Amino acid sequence: MISSNTSFIALIGNPVSHSLSPIMQNAALQYLGLDLIYIAIPCKDEDLESVLHSLKKINCKGLNITIPHKEKVFDLCSDISPIANKVKAINTMKLNSKKEWSGTNTDVEGFIYPLKKLNIAKKKSIVLGSGGAARSVIQGLINLNLSTISVISRNKSSLDELTKNFDNQIQLQGFLDNDNQAQNLIQEADLIVNTTPVGMKESKYEKNVFPYGEAFWRSLNSQTIVYDLIYNPSPTPLLKFSAKKGCMTIDGLKMLVAQGMKSISFWTNGLEVPFEIMNNALKKYL
Ligand code: NAP
Repeated sequence: MISSNTSFIALIGNPVSHSLSPIMQNAALQYLGLDLIYIAIPCKDEDLESVLHSLKKINCKGLNITIPHKEKVFDLCSDISPIANKVKAINTMKLNSKKEWSGTNTDVEGFIYPLKKLNIAKKKSIVLGSGGAARSVIQGLINLNLSTISVISRNKSSLDELTKNFDNQIQLQGFLDNDNQAQNLIQEADLIVNTTPVGMKESKYEKNVFPYGEAFWRSLNSQTIVYDLIYNPSPTPLLKFSAKKGCMTIDGLKMLVAQGMKSISFWTNGLEVPFEIMNNALKKYL
């Protein structure tokens, strides 16, 4: 029951109305029996600093940060975890003992979660897209000790920046989507991760439902694991196509839930919520 002692955790972003985090996080907080609720607060760029400053002064126990603020909050945190520094994005914050914001990133662990039980060390991987999520995915693949990571993107400048960022850590190469080598890479990949928004349930992408078009996928083989970060629709057109080819598929809902579990743990100094509690709340809602 919400009372005058109830405090809160907030999601800060713009827009936030589509977010599934309040559904799964409130289920988790209820499971833990904490006198806390989780709300979504839309926040424009120009208001970010004053909103975060004000939240320090009221009963706010933690934050999730989403698009477009994941990089901008760096300047507003007094301490930042090594993993957030590595991927250049903060998605979870809490107040430290000096009442200053402390930031971390739980997307890397969230991404790894469904892959941990699979034996993919030393295997070949492809990452599609070179935006924010691709950084967490690449860091996750480095942590899982993949042998090669080929990033395929349509955007040369973000591709170059991304490959430079992870230089010397692993055999990582960038390719444009029209590169002649793309078909060979697809054929030989053990794992392909889509980090582009193509296939999302939005009219903007309805006509172009396969990342880089359907022909791009013609050499996909049935031994490849296909992981799509998109969770709505579930399955995405890409995952439906891959499953038909006989591939193992993973949807983005698992990553979403797992990064949320890690955020809860950060806010509460280590409390754990079973995956099913948050996952079932979402399944019921969707
Ligand atoms: P982002 O920073 O905007 O990056 C998107 C990337 O996809 C960019 O490289 C972009 O290239 C490329 N792209 C966009 N439209 C494309 C198209 N029509 N064809 C080919 N490439 C295209 O976005 P993000 O934060 O990385 O998020 C990407 C996706 O991952 C979103 O769908 C998001 O919902 C999902 N996501 C899911 C989770 C989860 O927990 N499951 C977590 C994070 C993100 P340009 O630079 O040329 O536009």
